[in-house]
Amino acid sequence: MNDNDANHRLDVISASEQTEAGNYFVSNYPPFSLWSTDHAQTAIDRFDQPGDEDVTLGMYVHIPFCRKRCHFCYFRVYTDKNKDDIRRYMDAVIDETASLASKPFVNGRRLKFVYFGGGTPSYLSDKQLHYLFEGLQSSLPWDGVDEVAFECEPGTLNAKKLTALKQMGVTRLSLGIENFDDNILEINNRAHRSKQVYAAYQWARDAGFEHINVDLIAGMLGETEDNWKRCIDQTLRLDPDAVTIYQMEVPFNTTIYKRMKEEGRLAAPVAGWSTKRRWVREAFEAMEAAGYEISSAYTAVKDAKRVRFAYRDELWAGADMLAVGVSSFGHVGGVHYQNHHDIEPYVSSVLGSESPIYRALPVNDEELFVRQWVLQLKLGRIERGPFVKRFGIDPFERFADTLREYEASGHLSIDDDQLTFTRDGLLQVDRLLHAFFLPEHRGVRYA
Ligand code: SF4
Repeated sequence: MNDNDANHRLDVISASEQTEAGNYFVSNYPPFSLWSTDHAQTAIDRFDQPGDEDVTLGMYVHIPFCRKRCHFCYFRVYTDKNKDDIRRYMDAVIDETASLASKPFVNGRRLKFVYFGGGTPSYLSDKQLHYLFEGLQSSLPWDGVDEVAFECEPGTLNAKKLTALKQMGVTRLSLGIENFDDNILEINNRAHRSKQVYAAYQWARDAGFEHINVDLIAGMLGETEDNWKRCIDQTLRLDPDAVTIYQMEVPFNTTIYKRMKEEGRLAAPVAGWSTKRRWVREAFEAMEAAGYEISSAYTAVKDAKRVRFAYRDELWAGADMLAVGVSSFGHVGGVHYQNHHDIEPYVSSVLGSESPIYRALPVNDEELFVRQWVLQLKLGRIERGPFVKRFGIDPFERFADTLREYEASGHLSIDDDQLTFTRDGLLQVDRLLHAFFLPEHRGVRYA
């Protein structure tokens, strides 16, 4: 591999400041567009081989139901499913988990983290959650987990449900607040309103969760300077354990993009990247002044020793992750995989005792090295030692040209064995990461 593709790097650095359609966040590597149905059998076969007992094992569970579809949403979600559909889906997820648990790859390994994402996991009633959690744990127990994380839409919560979640073992609650302004929530087709945010937050605190995270989005449709400042103030008044802030991206499968296409517009009707970066910078600075630490390009935490993000940290450090549910993404022993991306083929496959794995990508050691490097760079600090030990490759030598260039442009600094992003670099880390991709993966569509 060499990283001398200077033209490519220049393109990356000078990319348009307008928000155009496409994926901005680098959430995995190699790019999803390279995962193929031709490799699905490789992932299925990988489950029949032993896993590495020394590698952390986690699980991601996808709950694809929402009350409304937000205009910026690019996830697999359904807003029209009834109680029977949901029961059938939960049975499929429980069966899929039991099937994976019985494979040689798992072979009694204990889960270190469980993550419920969506969609809206909190769309389920407390009765449905009991059924699902008990079903999942009957084949893969949660004793020994460091974290059970659960995403919530504030308008779906009540005191009873939150108490039940706490009693059933959820340790980290992630509240998808996104914005506090009812007009902006409305314009973006978000289902909840600010009144529900305050009620939900208080119920969650009363239920005694160890870790409550608040999600915000910088640059929603209709966002203004004054409102963003109010969002930061209101977040600080809630006093959450952690705050995660995403810069609005507009992937192709969003309602916003569909409208852009109809209107023949190239730029999305949201703030440009430099404005969104400035908004996150202002939020981070306000949070630091209030005693928070910045623990990644997106996250501020109040007490970094106590408030952990096991799912993020383990996954970015190379954990295996079982993915269950429609469209879920996982990684098992050197193979990326994704399940069927529509609910009916997913459920029918599982209930018909077939694997729901739809596409996959075997990943070689060099690709795993790049994957771990680009994902951990998002933490803002990285050491060379673990890479030399794990892969026998010194990343500071391998990427010397790019690192020198980014150092000269003020995006990072290197001090012996540690690399640290400047705040300016951290706020645009996702677009800087492409220069570390293998040459054959640069310039390909990401998803
Ligand atoms: S709540 Fe989340 S998953 Fe559901 S539609 Fe909105 S963005 Fe998508």
